Amino acid sequence: MQLKDVLIQNGFRFNKRFGQNFLTDKNLLSSIVEKAGVKEGDTVVEIGCGGGTLTAAIADKAKRVIGFEIDERLKPVLSVTLNEYKNVEIIFKDVMKTPTEEVEKMIGGKYKLVANLPYYITTPVLMKFIEEGTNLESVSVTVQEEVADRLCAKAGTAEYGAITAAVDVVGNASKIMRIDRKLFYPVPNVDSAVVRIDIDREKYKGVDIKKYREVVRSAFLSRRKTLVNNLMMSFKMPRVQAEEIVLSVGKDVLVRGETLTTEDFVALSEKI
Ligand code: SAM
Repeated sequence: MQLKDVLIQNGFRFNKRFGQNFLTDKNLLSSIVEKAGVKEGDTVVEIGCGGGTLTAAIADKAKRVIGFEIDERLKPVLSVTLNEYKNVEIIFKDVMKTPTEEVEKMIGGKYKLVANLPYYITTPVLMKFIEEGTNLESVSVTVQEEVADRLCAKAGTAEYGAITAAVDVVGNASKIMRIDRKLFYPVPNVDSAVVRIDIDREKYKGVDIKKYREVVRSAFLSRRKTLVNNLMMSFKMPRVQAEEIVLSVGKDVLVRGETLTTEDFVALSEKI
């Protein structure tokens, strides 16, 4: 049975608040799973199972799928669409209210994260797992194209921001696919793209991540201000000290935060 029919049969009504735009094209879904690098022995965490179409595509490939879904009204729908899958476990909970440690305990080993994320929790979900996921191998998320461009941006471009630098210090992001808005049901106002982030915690091994994040946050505090001014403001330091720090990492005192690369932020965080 088609997902649309199952939804109708169960009298399901889409809830905009939860960002419910579902994908139904089987070829597209299996292509997402393939490009996400999901392999036979993998355990995959999916956030927001919706009608279970992506869940099924992941379960066709992976050993085990643990899915989170906030909307309990999808229970009867998922029990039909995922009926034949023995390797799927759905947890009807808000993923943001579930400690990452708890998720990892349940899995007991390495895992990949795959999700078609609602806009309103894209950044929180990404940051939660990237910051706290000690056994996380990769993240492949379908997000609004504009967010995808931000995640994969190069320093100095308009798309480059705090989230780019926050991800880049522990992983490598790339846009693996574009998805036309017409492929979603119901059709949203924007196109989407899939971003894959391969986690590499050795990339900047030894960096004080907490300090790094503070520096990044500070650098993007106000885009119109120089890095020196932003550092003065967030670290409550005198101009002369902020200038000294900026000069010590080989940058001009008039430089703006958004032109700094991950390496520059790492160097800065070591000086502060
Ligand atoms: N994976 C499905 C697909 O690709 O067709 C559905 C994707 S839909 C964009 C996002 C799903 O996330 C919705 O089913 C929504 O109810 C669910 N969701 C929204 N907020 C959530 C949260 N905080 N925790 C878990 N699931 C959530």
